[in-house]
Amino acid sequence: MKKNTIKNIGTSDFVNMGPIRLRQPLPTRQIDMIDPFVLLHHYGPYEISETHNPFDLGPHPHRGFEPVTFLVQGEQLHRDSLGNESVVKAGDVQWTTAGRGIIHAEKPTNEFVKKGGIIEGIQLWLNLPASKKMISANYQHEKHEDFHKVISEDKKVVTKVIAGTLDNKHGRIVTQTPVNAFMIDAKSGGTENISFPDTHQGLLYLLKGKVRINENEMLELDGPQLIQFNQDGEGFTLKAEADSLMLFLSGAPFNEPVATYGPYVMNTQTEIMEAMRDYQMGKMGFLPVN
Ligand code: MN
Repeated sequence: MKKNTIKNIGTSDFVNMGPIRLRQPLPTRQIDMIDPFVLLHHYGPYEISETHNPFDLGPHPHRGFEPVTFLVQGEQLHRDSLGNESVVKAGDVQWTTAGRGIIHAEKPTNEFVKKGGIIEGIQLWLNLPASKKMISANYQHEKHEDFHKVISEDKKVVTKVIAGTLDNKHGRIVTQTPVNAFMIDAKSGGTENISFPDTHQGLLYLLKGKVRINENEMLELDGPQLIQFNQDGEGFTLKAEADSLMLFLSGAPFNEPVATYGPYVMNTQTEIMEAMRDYQMGKMGFLPVN
């Protein structure tokens, strides 16, 4: 396997999103976007209790991309303007295709808040190409136990294939564009090779632990946490130096202009203005606060 060389090594610094403090590995001052990936938020781990519940996102719209949540710990209630209401558990993935418009809301379930516990997850904004920005909205929720897994030779690394393909195992998520999304859970000392097409841009984000990439670069919490690969190989190797959790993403870039504002990702400023107007006119649907 010809290894991909490393284009950028990024940190995952804290930002404030309203009252919520979370890590934002993408975009950063160094890395603007990794086409087709626009934004990555790593929220938590937060201690949630009845007196402290900082992660309650009321109804808000999206257009022009796919907001994806990888829930790592806890339990969230999802509601949206398509009429979906589902409880998302640790390890589950919710893949929303906002398309022309959706309104959704996210919060820890009432039961979970009452009991107390830890909430942690990743929110990804995956862009849609111009030709698909105005398709109908869609919501996919896949449960953690249903994903196909690839086990390393040393049995220490389990890779969940969420979307795309790895070693002839296929993801359960239906994607709009060529995309891989793998959650990699590695025990200390475990090694694995992850391959992906040379037509994709790839990135690896570390949520927990310490990992060596291509026998060279080290990722660790409170240090470099994200690697962007060059499009010049067939994959990479990893070796866990501690029990570690990683998200690998790759996708074929669109090479289109990107205009983002608030919850919208479009190609032009005019389309952003249209999105704001359409939301106000109720064209993205309705979702009651509750
Ligand atoms: Mn949202």
